[in-house]
Amino acid sequence: MNHIFTEKEKEIRDKVKEFVEEELNPISLQVELEERIPGQIVDKMRAMKLFGLAIPEEFGGLGLSTLGEILVYEELTKANACFRSRIGTSNGIGSMGILFDGTREQKNKYLPRVSSGDWTAAFALTEPNAGSDAASISTGAVLEGDHWIINGTKQFITNGDCADFFTTIVVTDERKRARGGFTALIIERDTPGFFIGSPDNKMGIKGSHTTELAFRNCRVPKEYVIGGMPMVGQGFKTAMRVLDKGRLTMGACALGASQKLLDMCVAHVKQKAKYGKSWDDLQSVQFVLADMATEIYAARQMLYHSAWLRDQGNKVTHEASMVKLLCTEMADRIADRAMDIFEDEGYLKKSQIEMYLRDVRLYRIFEGTSEIQRIVISRNLLKG
Ligand SMILES: Cc1cc2nc3c(=O)[nH]c(=O)nc-3n(C[C@H](O)[C@H](O)[C@H](O)COP(=O)(O)OP(=O)(O)OC[C@H]3O[C@@H](n4cnc5c(N)ncnc54)[C@H](O)[C@@H]3O)c2cc1C
Repeated sequence: MNHIFTEKEKEIRDKVKEFVEEELNPISLQVELEERIPGQIVDKMRAMKLFGLAIPEEFGGLGLSTLGEILVYEELTKANACFRSRIGTSNGIGSMGILFDGTREQKNKYLPRVSSGDWTAAFALTEPNAGSDAASISTGAVLEGDHWIINGTKQFITNGDCADFFTTIVVTDERKRARGGFTALIIERDTPGFFIGSPDNKMGIKGSHTTELAFRNCRVPKEYVIGGMPMVGQGFKTAMRVLDKGRLTMGACALGASQKLLDMCVAHVKQKAKYGKSWDDLQSVQFVLADMATEIYAARQMLYHSAWLRDQGNKVTHEASMVKLLCTEMADRIADRAMDIFEDEGYLKKSQIEMYLRDVRLYRIFEGTSEIQRIVISRNLLKG
């Protein structure tokens, strides 16, 4: 499949593959147990410019295509999902709103800092009463003189503990709400009236943290609207635009984890003998491996093709939802079957099979659950 990639895409994929094999795989279990990525590893990720994969070169990033970015996520997730999560919000939902819709000043201020990894970007949409139905958010911002006064609560915000600024979607017009009444604001970490909660105790992806955010008469200058004052009311569009790429990204993570699980299962089956017979003689195990490999092959074609379509300037909302649905549901099935193959050993922490089983479950939840992807896909089919 090498022929479909540019030299730049192959170069970064190979560099990350080497980083994963030499530095990330050996510490994956430690990161899981300690629930944190060592600082020197984050520094190496900065040095490799992994925080600015998609940010154009003029802002200090690598200016990679979607396909190139997908390849990086696929490799990183093979080691441990949290490595991708640490850079994910900076490359995606946290900074893309500024890249797509920001003013020149906003791009100049934030994007170079994100690219260098000095600042981490995060994205705050979800609230206690607004998850899938993002249109139900209630965190509101009222303009008083030259400042927005914000009140409300966001939850499950990835990298909340380490982010330096948050692309935050708020209600600025109660009557219009999602139809022209939501606005994307930039909230910097040390803003008065802005509070970041402690990391949530999650089921998986332990080395990456989510937090609650509280806004209590939080004040930001009025020009902190992404795109400036003319973009007031356009926040829902900004949020939805960043999600197309996000859904392809989730497909890449699910694919990387699935491939790693297949590789682990093949190695395990080759090595292990049971009932006095090599496992590779057992037809049921052979069939499971064959099904895993077939699904992964199909998912990979779909993901790469959709990423390529996006790189050609096509709108991929429909394809991105199909990719996310297929890849994330596949990863769940594969992790479950891997547990069957490893049996009791898979249940032990040291095997890391149980870690992948817990980690991949998240991909069916965030950036739109499987049900939401089905709604997007069928709406597209039926509206024509
Ligand atoms: C680890 C983690 C990290 C996250 N990171 C971020 C982040 O960085 N920023 C952020 O803003 N959010 C983040 N989220 C939030 C995430 O996007 C939401 O959890 C997700 O959108 C689902 O919302 P919910 O959990 O409120 O579920 P709900 O919306 O309450 O859904 C519950 C169930 O109902 C189903 N359902 C809902 N609506 C429909 C419908 N119309 N038809 C059929 N079924 C439906 C869903 O599929 C689901 O099965 C994160 C969540 C987690 C767990």
